[in-house]
Amino acid sequence: MSIPCDYHMHSRFSSDGQATIPEMCEAAIRAGLREICLTEHVDWIPWDKTRDFFNPAAYVPVALEYKNRYEGRLTIRVGLEISEPHLVSDQIKILLASWPIDFVLGSAHWIDQSGVYFTELYQVHSVDEIEREYFKRVLELVRDGEFDSLGHLDLVKRYRPIELGPFDAAPHREIIHEILRILVSRDKAFEVNTSPLRRGLDSTCPGLEVLKWYRDLGGEKLTIGSDAHNPEQIATGFDTALEMLRAAGFKRIVRFERRQPELIEV
Ligand SMILES: [Zn+2]
Ligand SMILES: [Zn+2]
Repeated sequence: MSIPCDYHMHSRFSSDGQATIPEMCEAAIRAGLREICLTEHVDWIPWDKTRDFFNPAAYVPVALEYKNRYEGRLTIRVGLEISEPHLVSDQIKILLASWPIDFVLGSAHWIDQSGVYFTELYQVHSVDEIEREYFKRVLELVRDGEFDSLGHLDLVKRYRPIELGPFDAAPHREIIHEILRILVSRDKAFEVNTSPLRRGLDSTCPGLEVLKWYRDLGGEKLTIGSDAHNPEQIATGFDTALEMLRAAGFKRIVRFERRQPELIEV
């Protein structure tokens, strides 16, 4: 048994994706998946340079067309990865009321007006400070944002300078617990994002320890995503993700249709 659904990927409807939707679909079928969710970037915070790129009127009809064409071979869900949804809530409300969206990944990519991947950030602030500030932004997102699953909870680990050694969740236990408690009380899912494994890290976003905390707090809704930006990256690291799920005591993952969750055995 392996994980049958990849719930995080970007086609050319995202500013940083190049592949067409059918190229992503064919790769998903080759990887043995039964279902994918396209999660195109919605980067609408005013200081994001790519804020004008995403166009739902271009994306959604094309995604729906392929959803029909692939019926019986691959289930396609029409999703979004919304950056800082709590900071653009009025626009997001209109977006979600206007289009038949299956799934919303809510992701924090910014610390105020600096992207967490900006190398300048690391020249001005200590890594400890950047990590602490990032989790504060994630806390605000889960408290006030509109989303179905929280994307890459500890994204900062991907940008941690290698000489400092691997990211450790333990010093941030208190705030991560608060984040997880809110997810459980709002009945939101959270994501196991396998993209760090492609960058030579040995842990997903988040890692096993955080998964165990979530389970101890009563959480049961997990989505699994590769964060693929090209077809070759689809479902990468899913064997490791499944081992982690098992090690943390999870037997199910969650899938969505028109924003309604359904738990499935894996
Ligand atoms: Zn992201
Ligand atoms: Zn992404």
